[in-house]
Amino acid sequence: RERTGADPSGERPPLTVLAGPTAVGKGTVAAYIREHYPEVRLSVSATTRAPRPGEQDGVHYFFVDDEGFDRMLAQGELLEWATVHNRFRYGTPRGPVVESAERGELMLLEIDLQGARQVRASMPEACLVFLAPPSWDELVNRLVGRGTEDEEERTRRLETAKVELAAADEFDEIIVNDEVPRAAARLVDLMRGEHSESR
Ligand code: 5GP
Repeated sequence: RERTGADPSGERPPLTVLAGPTAVGKGTVAAYIREHYPEVRLSVSATTRAPRPGEQDGVHYFFVDDEGFDRMLAQGELLEWATVHNRFRYGTPRGPVVESAERGELMLLEIDLQGARQVRASMPEACLVFLAPPSWDELVNRLVGRGTEDEEERTRRLETAKVELAAADEFDEIIVNDEVPRAAARLVDLMRGEHSESR
């Protein structure tokens, strides 16, 4: 599938979206990029969920209450937003995305599939990257292994993941998350406009 706004000579996309099924390791790849590729700017989402240990307001998320989120929506501050796993709301502040595009910075959004579809609709020139697990069993192992969800929540997330895996063909690029540093390197190559088929 061709990106409508993309330059076939491999010009940088103004914005790159990383999406994929639950537990595929989007957050891990994003964290790796945050640490190892300072040239990449990561969008900081607003969310109504509470911070987890180690998460800082304004760094990992902007933590807001329901009223705060409603206000951002009403003022048109969000480029996209979604209720994820039927629970909390998450959204991408528009300002930094616009600013980054103007400055020609490499901007990465790590968001869910519903959000990726909204970005596709409003910014056709964005590059949509699907992070895929090496296999279904691997995905189940990761979800169980990280132990952050109870059985009921795991079942719910796996249902979602099944549907989400089928969406891979809506994306411009697919990266298999076999090893985090490799997946991150491939992603940054794409962001830089270097389409290396060899890795
Ligand atoms: P978590 O609560 O584990 O940090 O994130 C849960 C899910 O929310 C992940 O799938 C993540 O990609 C998604 N997410 C985080 N920020 C945003 C956002 O701004 N918009 C959308 N649509 N999804 C987001």
